[in-house]
Amino acid sequence: MTETIFNDLEQVLSGQLKYNEPMSRHTSWRVGGPAEVLVEPSGMVDIKTACEYARDKKIPLTVIGNGSNLLVSDYGIKGMVLKIGKGLSDIEIDNETIMAGAGAKLSRIAAAAGAAGVGGLEFMAGIPGTLGGAVVMNAGAYGKSISQVLKRVSLINQNGQVSCQEQENIIFDYRSSSLQESGLIVTEGVLEGYLRDEKQIKDDMKDMGEKRRSSQPLNYPNAGSVFRNPPGYSAGKLIEESGAKGLRVGDAQVSEKHANFIINLGSATAEDILQLIERVQRMVEKRFGIRLKKEIRVLGRFLR
Ligand SMILES: Cc1cc2nc3c(=O)[nH]c(=O)nc-3n(C[C@H](O)[C@H](O)[C@H](O)COP(=O)(O)OP(=O)(O)OC[C@H]3O[C@@H](n4cnc5c(N)ncnc54)[C@H](O)[C@@H]3O)c2cc1C
Repeated sequence: MTETIFNDLEQVLSGQLKYNEPMSRHTSWRVGGPAEVLVEPSGMVDIKTACEYARDKKIPLTVIGNGSNLLVSDYGIKGMVLKIGKGLSDIEIDNETIMAGAGAKLSRIAAAAGAAGVGGLEFMAGIPGTLGGAVVMNAGAYGKSISQVLKRVSLINQNGQVSCQEQENIIFDYRSSSLQESGLIVTEGVLEGYLRDEKQIKDDMKDMGEKRRSSQPLNYPNAGSVFRNPPGYSAGKLIEESGAKGLRVGDAQVSEKHANFIINLGSATAEDILQLIERVQRMVEKRFGIRLKKEIRVLGRFLR
């Protein structure tokens, strides 16, 4: 893609547009090469325009939220990256129903619901993603997942057509959903909680936050759990017992605090992280005969 296209887009979008933007600025692992064009839409019209533009010019389109579950290649991402964030982050609460833009952070949604005396979303408070990313990943914690509180989502397809889907028409599984490879973009979600004492909500969120801080290496860039837990097992335990805790490739390290986390000690590359992931997979497979599946999403081209 050329700068001409970039200039072209600048005329029609009202949101932010960045050319050759390092994805390391948009991922919690702080790794990833440049996106040819990164668009931060200011609202629905921008998303529609960007989608139609990408389709007409045959530009590949990648959607991201807060980048907290992504491993982006050191070579970056070809085409357009659409980052759903602030421009779609309004939150409205009506009794026990919460309507939020897909770019709203889960922590903000949980806090707003809590302040309005709506409980049931406490588990979301410490997950550093957006509502859109959480729906697509079926994010969850402490035995609850977003699919249990979701009523419906608004979607837009890559032709710019808008639709609505009820929760029961989306297939949700552990850290996955049928939206994952669908090419559909989540633009809004409706969640349902229940009336609860504000102080109890706050206390629960505080407890969960403390649990996270004591068990997760939050002082280093990371992307949360790297692997899904295989049915009946804890991925962290399997990794620990296969001797991979503390293992390093470059500046990527299997956390000493939580073995299912890989931390960036400073200047890790995406290649380092992927190599480490594959080493861990081999070690666990050799010791237990179980192939760990990645929970994180990998974007872009890698040398293999
Ligand atoms: C410290 C830490 C702790 C974490 N703890 C948890 C946890 O307890 N539980 C948990 O489940 N996860 C956890 N995670 C992982 C991560 O926060 C979640 O998966 C989160 O839901 C990802 O949201 P995101 O907005 O960052 O999405 P991204 O990482 O940007 O994207 C994730 C996927 O969703 C897609 N996507 C994003 N937004 C949209 C959209 N609007 N429309 C369509 N597709 C979209 C992307 O294409 C990608 O496939 C943690 C991560 C970190 C760094």
